[in-house]
Order: sequence, then structure tokens, then C-alpha cells
Amino acid sequence: MPSTSYNPDTSELTRRIYGSIYGLAIGDALGAPIEFSPPGSFTPVTGFRTGGPFNLPAGTWTDDTSLALCLIESLVECNGCDINDQMQRFVRWYQEGHLSATGHCFDIGTTTRSALHHFFATGDYQSREIDDHSAGNGSLMRIAPVPLFFHKEPHKAIYFAGESSKGTHNHPAAVDACRYFAGLIVGALQGISKEKLLSPLYAPIPDYWDERSLVPEIAEVAMGSFLTKEPPEIAGSGYVVKSLEAALWAFAKGRDYRESVLLAVNLGGDTDTTGAICGQLAGAYYGIDGIPDEWCRNLAKEELISEKVRDLIHAIELV
Ligand code: MG
Ligand code: MG
Repeated sequence: MPSTSYNPDTSELTRRIYGSIYGLAIGDALGAPIEFSPPGSFTPVTGFRTGGPFNLPAGTWTDDTSLALCLIESLVECNGCDINDQMQRFVRWYQEGHLSATGHCFDIGTTTRSALHHFFATGDYQSREIDDHSAGNGSLMRIAPVPLFFHKEPHKAIYFAGESSKGTHNHPAAVDACRYFAGLIVGALQGISKEKLLSPLYAPIPDYWDERSLVPEIAEVAMGSFLTKEPPEIAGSGYVVKSLEAALWAFAKGRDYRESVLLAVNLGGDTDTTGAICGQLAGAYYGIDGIPDEWCRNLAKEELISEKVRDLIHAIELV
């Protein structure tokens, strides 16, 4: 359990919020040592290990978690979703290693990097053109804090998840992946069953997607594409549509948090990110006490993560 603040009497909602953020960071840390490895080319992951493209110590998380922590900090300090403030914190992470596991930014996705450069040069995230090649998973991997913060008002949770994506990922597929996934996280916090969460076009608001439709490629996933496919059709890709599909495949198939994230990272490819996406939802669904204690304790800078979740919970109580 989180070492510095876990209280066995905390409510189920609190357990789910801790679960979602720890779930994200642990999925990221499990996948990092084999990031970019083709499926089948590595000894299957069963726990934290050292190595990978950045030669990280076991339990070290990457950009996925740093950006999620930046989002928490911004939501708490702004008491809401201020995209300019989020972007400023992302730039601090990129330039100064703010909220990184190692003291510096050692990895960054191409779309995020070009968005941060544009923002740094112009001070404006909205003036960037939509690039057809930018439908990456870099906003989905960090999104959980937004639906967690706004969970009492599901319309806002979904809307602001899409808006927050646009800071770095304004491609409609990336935006809609974040909107749909935010709905799943809100549903998980409400204790909705897995079967219902994964039913066609689930939203925490009835018939929500009828009026505010998803782009066709995300709608296809939300209709349940992941229930009828298996690897190699399911793949740990950097493309947000495939990434969402892979994370949901692992969540659907896994019988608990552990099994779900291990299925996600063992797909290979963009392993830390598939793990981080699956982990946000699986952690919200199973709660912090559904996550192996050993993984929580051995996470890099666990006190920092615990402190940020505590700040988030405190802010949510005040909303
Ligand atoms: Mg990463
Ligand atoms: Mg990645």
C-alpha cells in the first residue's frame, strides 16, 4: 500500500483514485525495461526489472507518469482545467526534469516534443495545425487525473479530458480516445461492473455518444473491437487507436490488476504506455488494495506519487 498515507479506513472512492494513479505509474514502470521490444523478443515480464532503452533501475517510471503528475499539480493549483498552465508544467518537465523519476526528462514522444516546442516559441497551444501523423498515444497515457478530478460531474470529466489532450495531441482520434477513456474511468470510480464498462459505447451518462459522437476509428474500439481480436492484431502500438484497443483487450482479459497490466506490457512495442493506459483503468476498477503491495512499495519516488494523489483527493473533496 502507499507507504506514507494509506489508511485502511479510506473510502472505496479514495482507494480507486489511489489505484488509478498508482496503476498508471506501475504499468509504466513494468513496461519501461522492454519499451520498443518486438513481441516475443523478450523474457515475459512478471515484475519490475532493470534495463531498457534508458537503462533505468527497477521500478522507474517514465514520461507517461511525469506528465500525469504535472496534470495533477495543475488541476490542484488551478482548481480546474487550465491548458496553458498544464503546458507550462509540461515544459518545466521537459526542460528541468520537474516531476521526473530521475531528475531529468530522458524520453519524450515526438508529438509531445513538437507541441511543447511550439508552445514555448509562441506561448499558444491552439495555433498548431492538426497533423495527420500525430494521432499518437501521448495524451491518453497521462489522462487519468482529469476524469478523477471531475468525476462528480461526468460531462466535465469527458469534456476536459478532450480539451487537455489538445494541448499536445489535437488529432481527433487522440482527443476522442481521451474522451471515451475518461468516461470509462468515471464509470470505474462509480463501481460499474467490468461487463457494463466494456459494453458497446459505454458512457457514465446514458446515450452520451449518440449526441456527441466519437470519430469512427475510436467508435469501433468503443463498440468492442478488442473483444474479438487477439495478438498480433492486438498490438502495443504508438498509434492511439491501437494503443487504446490493446489496453482494453488486456483489461478485459485480465482477472485482476496484476494480470491485466502484465498482459498489456507483454504485448511488446510501446510497452510502458500500453501498461500505463491499462493501469489507469484497471487501478481505478480494482482499487489500490487490488494492486500487489510489492509493486506499490518498490515504485521509484513512491512518496512523491503518494503526495500528489493526496493533494488530488484533497482538491476533489473541495470541488
Ligand atoms: Mg514512457
Ligand atoms: Mg511509451
